[in-house]
Amino acid sequence: MTAYPHMLAPLDLGFTTLKNRVLMGSMHTGLEETKDWNRVAEFYAERARGEVGLMVTGGIGPNLEGSVLPGAAMMTTDEDVANHAIVTERVHANGGKIAMQILHAGRYAYGPMCVAPSPVKSPISPFPPAELDEDGIEKQISDIVATAGRAKAAGYDGVEIMGSEGYFLNQFLVTHTNKRTDRWGGSYENRMRLPIEVVRRTREEVGTDFIIIYRLSMIDLVPNGSTFEEVVQLAQEIEKAGATIINTGIGWHEARIPTIATSVPRAAFAWVTKKLMGKVSIPVITSNRINTPEVAEEVLSTGCADMVSLARPMLADAHFVRKAMDEKAAHIAPCIACNQACLDHTFGGKISSCLVNPRACYETELVVAPADTAKSIAIVGAGPAGLSTALTAAERGHTVTIFDRADEIGGQLNMAKQVPGKEEFWGLVDWYRAMVAEMGITVHLNTEATVDALKGFDEVIIATGVLPRDPEIPGQDADNVHSYIDVLRKRATPGKRVAVIGAGGIGFDVSEYLVHEGQSPTENLPAWMEEWGVADTAEHRGGLSPEGPQPDAPARAVTLLQRKAEKHGKRLGKTTGWIHRAALKMKDVEFVGGVNYERIDAEGLHVSFGDARENPTLIAADDIILCAGQVPDRSLADALEAAGIAHHIIGGADVAAELDAKRAIDQGTRLAATL
Ligand code: NAP
Ligand code: SF4
Repeated sequence: MTAYPHMLAPLDLGFTTLKNRVLMGSMHTGLEETKDWNRVAEFYAERARGEVGLMVTGGIGPNLEGSVLPGAAMMTTDEDVANHAIVTERVHANGGKIAMQILHAGRYAYGPMCVAPSPVKSPISPFPPAELDEDGIEKQISDIVATAGRAKAAGYDGVEIMGSEGYFLNQFLVTHTNKRTDRWGGSYENRMRLPIEVVRRTREEVGTDFIIIYRLSMIDLVPNGSTFEEVVQLAQEIEKAGATIINTGIGWHEARIPTIATSVPRAAFAWVTKKLMGKVSIPVITSNRINTPEVAEEVLSTGCADMVSLARPMLADAHFVRKAMDEKAAHIAPCIACNQACLDHTFGGKISSCLVNPRACYETELVVAPADTAKSIAIVGAGPAGLSTALTAAERGHTVTIFDRADEIGGQLNMAKQVPGKEEFWGLVDWYRAMVAEMGITVHLNTEATVDALKGFDEVIIATGVLPRDPEIPGQDADNVHSYIDVLRKRATPGKRVAVIGAGGIGFDVSEYLVHEGQSPTENLPAWMEEWGVADTAEHRGGLSPEGPQPDAPARAVTLLQRKAEKHGKRLGKTTGWIHRAALKMKDVEFVGGVNYERIDAEGLHVSFGDARENPTLIAADDIILCAGQVPDRSLADALEAAGIAHHIIGGADVAAELDAKRAIDQGTRLAATL
C-alpha cells in the first residue's frame, strides 16, 4: 500500500491513460533554443525515466509575432517537426508522455512585432503592441491551430494551449487589456470568443485521440481581472470546445503578488482550483508551490484537483515520482522555490538549471559516472559546497568523510531556515541529512579538522566557508552591536529599534527576521493572503482585495543601510528581488543608501552622506546588526599549503564575494564529478 494512493492513481482520459496524477508543468528552460536536440531529448527522457505521468514542454511560439522573444523556439516548419520528433521518440522510448505547450505571448512578446487585442502596453515590456484587425486575429488562430497539427506530426501526445499568466488569450478575456468594441471585445461572451475558437479549431485539426490541455487563468491578480463566474463560464465553454484537461494558471506576470516564490505557502492556490471542481466534467489540474509527495497527496485527497502540476520540483529531482513510488520520499531533492538557477537564469538569458541539482538541463554535460579508481576523500565543511561534493563523490563510488566543527550539518543553510519565508531550507537540510546517511558517508561533527587528521586521504576538499567581514566602524565592539550570525543563531535579541548595516542578501534576510514575530505567514495561508491582499474571485474581481495588502504591524522599527547610492536590493534575484523589497516596505523598513558609517554609540549609528561626509545624521537604534558581507575562511587551507598537502578549495572558502548556495553546490558537484 502506497502512502500516496491519490497521487499515484492512473488517470483514464478515454483514448489514453496517464500512469499517475503528476504533470510536469511547462518551464522555459532555454534548452529548445540551443538547437541541441539530443540535449533537449535527454532532459525530458530523464524525467520520463522518473515516472512522471505527463510532461509539458516550455512554451513554443506559433509565429514570429507571438514568440516570447526574437529567436525563441517556434513550431512552424517541417524541420521543427523533425527536431521535436527526436524529443518525443526519446520520451516514448523511456515510457513517458509529453505534450507541447503553444505559447502566444501577445503584448508580453519582447519585440517590436508584438500584437494584442488592444494597443495597451504591458508594464513589464517596453514594446507597445499593435492592435489586431479581423484578418490579424484569424491569422493568429490559424497559426496556433497549425502549430498544434505540427506538434501531433512530431509525435507529441498532446498540446497545452497557454491561456493564462496574462498571455495573448488571457489578454482577450479581461477589460484590463481588451478595449475592443467588435465581436472580439465588449461583453464577456465576445471576450471569450478567441480562446474558445482556438480550442474548437485545434480539436478539429488534431482529431479526437490527442490531449488538449487548456491552461486557464483562475485568479488573475490584476485590476479588472476575471470573476469566479467568468472563470467557470469559460471553463465550461472550453470543455465544450473540445479540451481534454483544464490546467490552472495563477496570476499574470505583471501581478504584484508573489505566486511561486519561496515565501508563498505550499499549495497556496489549491483552493482556487477546488472551486472549479464539479463545475466541469473533464479533469482539472492544480498548480503552484506543490513540492513534496505529501503536499500533492493532501491536495488530491481533499478534492482540490484531479491532478497536480509540479514544474520546478522536476528540475530539483527528475525522479520525484519514482522515489515516491519506491517509498523513498526523503530522498527527493526538494525544490526550495528560490528561482535562483531556473527563472532567474531564464530572465537573464541563460539556460535554466537548479540550485539543488546542477545537473538539471545539463544531463548530457555534467555526467556523474562511476569512478575508475575508488578513493578516500576528506571534506572539511558540511555546508552546501561540502555536502554536494560528498554526495556526488559517494555516488561515484568514493569513500567520503566529512568534518565540521558545528554540531549539525548544513552550514549557512541553518541560518537561512530561521528567516520567515525561507522555511523551505529546513527541508533542504533534512534532505542532505537523509542522503548522507543513505550514501554511507562518515560525518565527524563537533570536530576541528587538523592537518594531521587530513594526512593519508587521497583527496582533501576545503569547504570551510566564510567569516563575516569586519566593517571597521568606530564603536562596533560595544554590547549593542551584533553580527548577523548572533541574530540568526538566536544568540542576541535586538531591541525595538534596529539599524542593519549592509543591504545584501543577508541584510535583507536579517531585516525580514527582525520585523516578524510569531508564526510566519508562509506557514499560515489566511495570514499570507491578508498580508498580500489576495481575495476570493467570487467576491472581488481578479482576486485582489480592495483593501490591498494588510500586513501585521512590524515587530521592530528597522533601518536598512548601504553605502552604495543605488536602489536597495538591486543585486538580489531578478524574479524575487521585488518581493523582498515589497515585503520589507510593507513592514515600514526604512531604506537608507549612500551613507558613510561614522561611529556607533549608545544612541545608535551615526552616518554621513556623500564623498564630502555631509549631513551628519543619527540613526537612533537600540541595536546595530552587522551584515557587511563575508570573506573566505582559509585558515585550514593555508595550514595545508604550508604542510605541502594537496587540496581543492571550493565554495565561500574559494571566493566569498557573491557567494550563494547555487554557486557552492554547482562547484562542489562539478569537482566531485572529476575526482
Ligand atoms: P553581499 O550581498 O555581498 O552584501 C554585503 C553588504 O555589505 C552590501 O550591502 C555592501 O553594501 C555592504 N558592505 C560591504 N563591505 C562593507 C564594509 N566594509 N562596511 C560596511 N558595509 C559593507 O553579502 P551578504 O549579504 O553577506 O550575502 C552573502 C551572499 O549570500 C550573497 O552573495 C548573497 O547573494 C547570498 N544570499 C542570498 C540570499 C538570497 O535571498 N538569494 C539571501 C542571503 C544571502 P555597500 O558596499 O553598499 O555598503
Ligand atoms: Fe527550485 Fe530553486 Fe531549483 Fe528553481 S533553482 S528548481 S526554485 S530549487
